Amino acid sequence: MLAVLLPSGAGAHAPVAGGNSAVFDTLERFHGHACAGSLIGARLGLAAKTALKAAGGEGKLKAKYFANSCSIDGVQVAVGTTSGNKAIEVFDDNESRLLLSADKNGRQVEARLTRVAEEKGKKFRELRGKGNALPVGSPERQQVDRAADDIIGWFRNAPDVAVVQVRVVK
Ligand SMILES: [Zn+2]
Repeated sequence: MLAVLLPSGAGAHAPVAGGNSAVFDTLERFHGHACAGSLIGARLGLAAKTALKAAGGEGKLKAKYFANSCSIDGVQVAVGTTSGNKAIEVFDDNESRLLLSADKNGRQVEARLTRVAEEKGKKFRELRGKGNALPVGSPERQQVDRAADDIIGWFRNAPDVAVVQVRVVK
């Protein structure tokens, strides 16, 4: 882990990806496997939360997510909402898009993927499908799994600007 390699006191200046690695590790345990989908939700959630705070959002956070996928777990872990307390609503529109609102003053931001991130997510799903059809341990399977792992690494480490587009809605 990157965090243990940093000298003490360097935390405040750590790169964003290093700062989020604990969130991503928690997510992997919560979600049960490492995948691009859950990381997409986490990246959208983290970026939206930061933007909403910067826009002056106050009060409890409410999320709307527009795909019924692994990404929901990522949003929940990143934003701290759960379906149980109705802080997240899911719409099955097959869109990696998050609306995050602050309930006290109604400020709202929207986070969606960049074109590049959208493509990487699609590629990841293709690779997983392809890999699952190959015998475990075969060189072909290993190659496909490595390519999928590279995409997971990208979603963990690429800077926000490469992954997410955020705008203040109100
Ligand atoms: Zn998943």
